[in-house]
Formats: sequence, C-alpha cells, structure tokens
Amino acid sequence: MVNQTLRLNTKSMKGYDPIKLTEKMESIVVDGNKRKYAKLSRPLRFYGGTTSAVEVGCNLRCKFCFSDKPVFRPQSTGKFYTPEEVFKALDKSAKHYGHKLISASASEGTLGRQHLFELLDLVEKSKYVYILETNGMTLGNDNVFAEQLAPYKNLHVRVSIKGTSQEEYHELTDAIPESYELPFRALKHLIDAGVSCNACVMVSFSDDDGIRSVEQKLFELHPGLLKSLEKERITPFPKVAQRLAKNGLKPNSIAFKGNVVNL
Ligand code: SF4
Repeated sequence: MVNQTLRLNTKSMKGYDPIKLTEKMESIVVDGNKRKYAKLSRPLRFYGGTTSAVEVGCNLRCKFCFSDKPVFRPQSTGKFYTPEEVFKALDKSAKHYGHKLISASASEGTLGRQHLFELLDLVEKSKYVYILETNGMTLGNDNVFAEQLAPYKNLHVRVSIKGTSQEEYHELTDAIPESYELPFRALKHLIDAGVSCNACVMVSFSDDDGIRSVEQKLFELHPGLLKSLEKERITPFPKVAQRLAKNGLKPNSIAFKGNVVNL
C-alpha cells in the first residue's frame, strides 16, 4: 500500500482544517478500541429500515447539522463502548425490527479506525450490511484507509458532500475551502479500491447551476456516481433553525414529511 496522504496547505486559507480537527476529536471520543456513543441503537426509516447507533464526534461543524450535542459537545456526551457492545446492541435491535442494514450515524463514522475495523470484523461474520456514514474527510486524505476497507464485503460507504462548491461548503461549515475536495478524493479512493459506495450532496443551500456543476464533477469522477446520487435537504428542527438564523443562513429548499419544499 502506498500512502498518498494529502496534507492541506493551510497557510493562506481561512477556516479550520478538518484533518487537524479529526485528531482533536479522536483524542476525545476514542479510547483504544472503544468509541463514544450517545445511544447504541435506534430504528431509522432510511433504505427501507435501518438500525443505527448514535456516535459522538465529528471533524466538521456544519451549521445545518441536526445532531447537536454529539457534534458540538463531544466531551460531555455519550459513553465509551467496545465494538462487541455496539454490534450486540445493533444485532438485538435489527433482529427485533427485521432490519438487514445496520449503521452508526449523527456524527463522523471514520473516527477511531481500530474500533471501526473491529466492528466491521463482527459485521463480516453476520448477515448484515453496514452503512458507513462519512463526510469523506479522512478517506479523502488517506488512500490507504480505502484500501483497508476493501476486504469488507458487508460494507457500503455513503460519502456526504456538504454543498456544491468550495465557497458554499466554506459558508456552511467554516472549514478551509480546499477541504471541499476531500470527499471527491474519498470516492475516487473507494472506487479504485473496489469498495461499494455512493455520494450524497447537501443541496438545501444550492441553486440549479450549483447542483448541475456538482453533478458534472461527480460524472467526471465516475459516471456511475450519478445513478446512486442522493440529494439531501435539511429538516429544520428547532435547534437547526436557530443555528441557521444565528449564522444568517437561509435554505432554498427543505425536506418536510418526505417531500421537498422549495422556499
Ligand atoms: S458532517 Fe454530518 S455529523 Fe458532522 S457536522 Fe456535518 S452534518 Fe453534522
């Protein structure tokens, strides 16, 4: 494996570096093979029914994030669990609801690689498929990570892109604009390594031109990405609405009861 870790040149950039924030967050939410979770299982309606754990800790600070405490107060939120404890809880709930898909969500799924790999080892011996929810920062920064995921066949990686341009991404997250490219690199690394993956893009704050341009970017990366592309829109929960108002952000469209509402 050749490590092509990308180090962002942050000297002339505004905003925080998500890769540096990854290290800081891992120091808070990872302890050996344990990772912090706020809840070990809950049923979600996504993909026809998924059992999902609520992780703690993210390397972005999206202003539209619905997750709140797991992202914005990782120190005081959740408890540490081993991969076995997490898998056992997911298995129990998935059996109860008849789900074939399991996941962890509400934070960044790639923090704590040892924990993740040990969890995936357990999933691999089961009948479940694990959906790894990621913003693509860590996987885009390190191609070896994607290669390490390649042996897992009961795995699908969902890479979430925040906005349709570097400028929009920076406005939505306050991260350095250049880090917008990392989820695209993540998708390339995953496809090259043969890992099942798809892209989703937050488009609540985008116009039609922006959406067309990100579709073109994904098409050029790999035409198949357009077939499975998900366009995400925010649900304006009270805390989300408050945070957006505080930051002077107004969505062009939202999700409401499963429908898209243009504002
Ligand atoms: S990447 Fe996801 S979990 Fe992290 S801050 Fe953004 S929306 Fe929230």
